[in-house]
Amino acid sequence: MAVPSEDLVADHVLEFPGGYTRTTGPVIGRFLTELRDGRIVGVRTQEGRVLVPPLEYDPGTGDPVTGEWVEVGPSGTLAAWSWVHTPLPQHPLDRPFAWALIELDGADTCLVHAVDAGDPKTLRPGTRVRPRWSAERTGSITDIACFVPEVTRIVSPVRVPYKIRAGASLSRFLEGIRAGTFLGSRCSTCDKVYVPYRSSCPECGNAISGEVTLPDTGTVTTFAINNLPDPRAPQVPFVSAYILIDGADVPMIALLGDVPAHEVRQGMRVRAVWVPEEERTAGMGNIKWFAPTGEQDVEL
Ligand SMILES: [Zn+2]
Repeated sequence: MAVPSEDLVADHVLEFPGGYTRTTGPVIGRFLTELRDGRIVGVRTQEGRVLVPPLEYDPGTGDPVTGEWVEVGPSGTLAAWSWVHTPLPQHPLDRPFAWALIELDGADTCLVHAVDAGDPKTLRPGTRVRPRWSAERTGSITDIACFVPEVTRIVSPVRVPYKIRAGASLSRFLEGIRAGTFLGSRCSTCDKVYVPYRSSCPECGNAISGEVTLPDTGTVTTFAINNLPDPRAPQVPFVSAYILIDGADVPMIALLGDVPAHEVRQGMRVRAVWVPEEERTAGMGNIKWFAPTGEQDVEL
């Protein structure tokens, strides 16, 4: 068949300016009447499923529905959606929104409607939504202006000031830290040396009385590179490490500084960097971090 030449083409519009009137039938009519009254109803099929919006026939079996009306929702969960970045003039919202399949509580099918969510990132399968009703209802699907996400979380400020009272062992250890030394304790039974200082041996359970003063140098045994900022850390990324203080048998955790994270290695020799004596308190803040000494690495 020949393609008509351009001068044989005419534009037409089929339009009913006053609106095209059609009857609803009993099922859709009941649904729209209930919407006007602020309720959402479905109809039960012979198999017991609830269709929303209701139909006159079960689309699965072709049987007529039972005529039993069931109020559903009004809340529901999001099953799927498509985000509309640029709404068209005839769309229900004049800002970006989602066309969504919503399974209302108590329904077995999904209703298509608009969801006013603001940001598409807030939507997930299962997001709870509920209708925002129109101010004036006339018996139309637009009696529900749109659905909006339910309030499912709040942000509460939490601030709990508390004090830690150091026990005898920790107090003794922190006294040493204030003075710029590491105090350890030696178990007289197994001969293990613990830093920080402690008054009982976790290995053999004995009370410890032997105190030893250890140097502020040690060796990195393991470490982790951290990419989230921490107020105590010198920079991001920063390294937290287990450091075996010279003379101790158990490593302690500390920050590493004055070294790029990628240069830190197991066996690296380090020394504590102390804050100036006049600024020290009875706390671990007296040690800024450990920094490399420049000595040869140690075989672990
Ligand atoms: Zn012991």
